[in-house]
Amino acid sequence: MPVIVAIDGPGGSGKSTVARAVAQRLGYTYIDTGAMYRSVAHWAMELGMDLEDMHRMEQLARETHIEFVEGRVLRNGVDVSTEIRQPVVSDAASKIAAYPGVRRAMREEQRRIGAAGPAVMEGRDIGTVVFPEARVKVFLDASAEIRAQRRAAELGAPVEQVAKDLAGRDTRDRTRAEAPLMQAPDAEYVDTSGLSATDVEEAVLKIVRKRTSN
Ligand code: C5P
Repeated sequence: MPVIVAIDGPGGSGKSTVARAVAQRLGYTYIDTGAMYRSVAHWAMELGMDLEDMHRMEQLARETHIEFVEGRVLRNGVDVSTEIRQPVVSDAASKIAAYPGVRRAMREEQRRIGAAGPAVMEGRDIGTVVFPEARVKVFLDASAEIRAQRRAAELGAPVEQVAKDLAGRDTRDRTRAEAPLMQAPDAEYVDTSGLSATDVEEAVLKIVRKRTSN
């Protein structure tokens, strides 16, 4: 199996920034699995579908084809990179991500990508469920305040509202029955609260070197 660097953690923990940088440094493919769930949710909303209908959501997830091309997210050939970052899509993504059928469809696609070559894959369940055999596993975390501040700065939105949304989504992700957000027993825990993006990148690269050297 090609080397998989699995990076899991809650929203605002710094996963995307570090995963993208580490992938670039190693020459690995970068896979943002959150963008995959977001793309399905965004498509469902665009089509006016009922998000509560888990069978239709599974069907849609199976029809969703995601490509990551030069930093853009293409859903069935359409560039949805900007739209999928809207808070309303974040919320919808975390709702449909609780459906076992949707997760199954995403998981199959993620495993297919991972089998094709070395990758840095970030999400909630990469080290626990998608690639439990991954050579490198990192669990990124940060205090709720810091995570909300980072996300608010990205979105240009009031921190109080972002904190509330993030907390709601976190609770849903951590408490769902299927593949909840949690640290794999063999993952390295990194608290990014007081660290710069470069510090986190170095810390993760160090873990990669350690885990792949023997
Ligand atoms: O990482 P991001 O915030 O973009 O993910 C959006 C949502 O997608 C998360 O809140 C979570 O519900 C879901 N997700 C997931 N499993 C993953 C990645 C994302 O359930 N591996």
